[in-house]
Amino acid sequence: SSWWAHVDPAPKDPILGVTEAFLADPSPNKVNVGVGAYRDDDGKPFVLDCVRKAEAKIAGNLNMEYLPMGGSNHMVEETLKLAYGENSEFIKDKRIAAVQALSGTGACRLFADFQKRYQPESEIYIPVPTWANHHNIWRDAHVPQKTYHYYHPESKGLDFSGMMNDIKNAPKGSFFLLHACAHNPTGVDPTEEEWKEISQLIKARLLDKGHFPFFDMAYQGFATGDTERDAKAIRIFLQDGHLLGIAQSFAKNMGLYGQRVGCLSVLCEDDKQAVAVKTRLQQLARPMYSNPPLHGSLIVSIILSDPDLKNLWLKEVKVMADRIIGMRTSLRENLEKLGSPLSWEHITKQIGMFCYSGLTPEQVDRLTSEFNIYMTRNGRMSMAGVTTKNVKYLANAIHEVTK
Ligand code: PMP
Repeated sequence: SSWWAHVDPAPKDPILGVTEAFLADPSPNKVNVGVGAYRDDDGKPFVLDCVRKAEAKIAGNLNMEYLPMGGSNHMVEETLKLAYGENSEFIKDKRIAAVQALSGTGACRLFADFQKRYQPESEIYIPVPTWANHHNIWRDAHVPQKTYHYYHPESKGLDFSGMMNDIKNAPKGSFFLLHACAHNPTGVDPTEEEWKEISQLIKARLLDKGHFPFFDMAYQGFATGDTERDAKAIRIFLQDGHLLGIAQSFAKNMGLYGQRVGCLSVLCEDDKQAVAVKTRLQQLARPMYSNPPLHGSLIVSIILSDPDLKNLWLKEVKVMADRIIGMRTSLRENLEKLGSPLSWEHITKQIGMFCYSGLTPEQVDRLTSEFNIYMTRNGRMSMAGVTTKNVKYLANAIHEVTK
């Protein structure tokens, strides 16, 4: 008998499965609004000019030695400035324990493992809905999961009162996973005023050792086109005196998807605690992958530490965000022009890479079978897959299946 006879194939990943089906479709009209990767107006993957320039500086010039266990200190320092602010007192006071991580996923997973080891009784509160992999990450780290209200299906906006109630009712010492901006999959973010109230409520719980906020920031710059504005939620929490954690990713905002470069940081009470936490994070990383990859980390360090390249990057982030915002307007206008009696206001109200369209699984199935349009069955559309060439076709198909 075989060693692995009892092993069944794993179910397909709901997001990556959509791409597979898209690739297998021979239709010339096919449209992929499934995966969350930016595409240009020709539907092509986009490599940023700042990245090409940084690569040119690297080529032939550098050795291939290991990075330290916590990754490149230089890259981490520059990355922290994006989240905590250029002149952050926390950076100056060395209160942040931070390591280079395997993109946003790896940062979340390293934090989940850290949480399990050093707050073993704690639970993680996750929004409904969320990026599906959040559930896998905290499950595999053996952290019990609870959910909090987030999306309000009728308004296709935020269920603010539901969210506040859940924060209030969560037991002391709970961890809250918050999307810093451009919530995936809904495209619904709290307003600045709402963030202030959320922060105050989590802080009120903090007084008697309440909740710990953990921000997943996979889309800094992708919501508004401005990296500073997109860090606003985090800055509000910092101003309110929270201790918090942040997962940062350069997959989307630098287009470095396959390079797997990101950062996990934990704001501590003082520099001594930060050293302890950082060395423990490194200790967790060592038996998993020893040290993180070099190439993407060099690209990020070079871009963020060269004022010209950094400016170019900020411009290119804005180009990507603006193209998506333009496609939102165009998709909505096309649906309205076709005479759809439904409200499509949420397409332009939502923000970031995704539109949570409100299409039912059955309607999504029809889009795929009748129109060769691919998206996840929860109705999440990646606006990055919409172009001036396919937006009419997409609008028409959506109109047909929602009649
Ligand atoms: N968090 C959220 C909310 C995401 O949408 C993503 C990417 N889909 C990630 C984290 C992680 O992406 P990566 O590991 O490629 O940085």
